[in-house]
Amino acid sequence: MCESSLEKSGSEFPGGHPRRADWVLLNAEWIVTCDSKMQSFSSGGMAITGDTISAVGPSHLIASQFTAQRTLDLKGCMIIPGLVNTHTHAAMSVFRGMKDDLPLQRWLFEVIFPAERRIADPDMVYWGTLLSCAEMLTGGITTFCDGYFFEEAAVRAAMDSGMRAVLGQGILDTAAPDQDGEEQSRDRAAAFIESFPGNIGRLRPSLFCHSPYTCSAGTLQWVKAFCRKHRVLYQVHVAETAIEVAESTALHGLRPVARLDELGVLDTGTLCVHAVWLDQEEIRILARRGAGVSHNAESNMKLASGVAPIPDLLSSGVTVGLGTDSCAGNNNLDLFSEMDKAAKLHKVFRKDPVVCGASQVLRMATLDGARALGWHDDTGSLEAGKKADLTIIDIERPHLAPLYDPVSHLVYAVKASDVRHVWVDGVQVVSDGRVLTIDVPSAMKEVKRLARKAGGLDGTSIP
Ligand SMILES: [Zn+2]
Repeated sequence: MCESSLEKSGSEFPGGHPRRADWVLLNAEWIVTCDSKMQSFSSGGMAITGDTISAVGPSHLIASQFTAQRTLDLKGCMIIPGLVNTHTHAAMSVFRGMKDDLPLQRWLFEVIFPAERRIADPDMVYWGTLLSCAEMLTGGITTFCDGYFFEEAAVRAAMDSGMRAVLGQGILDTAAPDQDGEEQSRDRAAAFIESFPGNIGRLRPSLFCHSPYTCSAGTLQWVKAFCRKHRVLYQVHVAETAIEVAESTALHGLRPVARLDELGVLDTGTLCVHAVWLDQEEIRILARRGAGVSHNAESNMKLASGVAPIPDLLSSGVTVGLGTDSCAGNNNLDLFSEMDKAAKLHKVFRKDPVVCGASQVLRMATLDGARALGWHDDTGSLEAGKKADLTIIDIERPHLAPLYDPVSHLVYAVKASDVRHVWVDGVQVVSDGRVLTIDVPSAMKEVKRLARKAGGLDGTSIP
């Protein structure tokens, strides 16, 4: 049983006036707060005022202390924080299922990069990102961390979708769809950050160096300095494959994470994506620098990249969030599936059923994911004073009965299709499974049009 925020504040109003809220949610079977103590309680309620959670607590206390224009009875439902997807390339939904079952380098250089050269432009990025936002919202994800080209178009899609997002302009030294070499990539980085709309609190800019093998030392350092100056998140794919480690060692005499440390780009404002191939010293480096890690279990499994040392990272105090990676390679943006796979992958790999327990994995998909993005003061848990980012799950389903432990269900039994309502920043964006902010049939139609342009549909051959 959780000490509710109402009880903590002692704010009962015997004989007083009830407080006004915009939304009052009552009679939830369970509330899983994902706060620092991972507290859950039954028969819960919440009040939302503006973009903020006013109170979380026992339903009868919320009912007696708040009035609102809109009240929702959540009998048969569970309230959880909106999930946090710490890594994706949302625009790449256009390439979903285009080609599977290839090694990473062949998949990238023979399929994805040529397809991007054919169709990547702001139109593709807008529609691909918007469709991904619809998929994420219906699956209970309220925050995503993105990296792609023409990222201004992803900003527009995130703005239209109502989602909370960290939006990273991708940086490469080789030719990319919106930049041609080192000098232009720096201009793109600067232009993106300087033109980012500063008036929408739920959107934050970021820069994404693709990797230590596609960006020079000079670019890795220049981009980090720029991120520090503008106080924005620095993202980088690192140590994804054993080949990357072998090449880095041969070329530079250092493994990838050790090299990033020598270049001075690791700190609490850095998110290391994948971090599969780490030695013990590199784990200590990440812990010492306070850099976050985005763990993408399904992507690593499908591309046979390897198994990240997540239990060791966690026991060393490294902040680890979960990511779906792009749905070109995964092939979905489903964090419930990702939680289930992450929890099981490390058990079978270590031959230890105790590692990566449900509570730890749920925290990675919520509060720790938000912490890895530097946004945990606002989102990732249900607590009075935080932004109202929440997901309501219908638990009156055959595969969810009975319910002994809501956290166990969230990791091992709930499906994305069980999500019923979603709020982001105090605004309801999904109602009874329907996205209120996006014309989903139009987004699907546009993405199918783009897929025909990319090739591979209608019998066109893909390598
Ligand atoms: Zn990625």
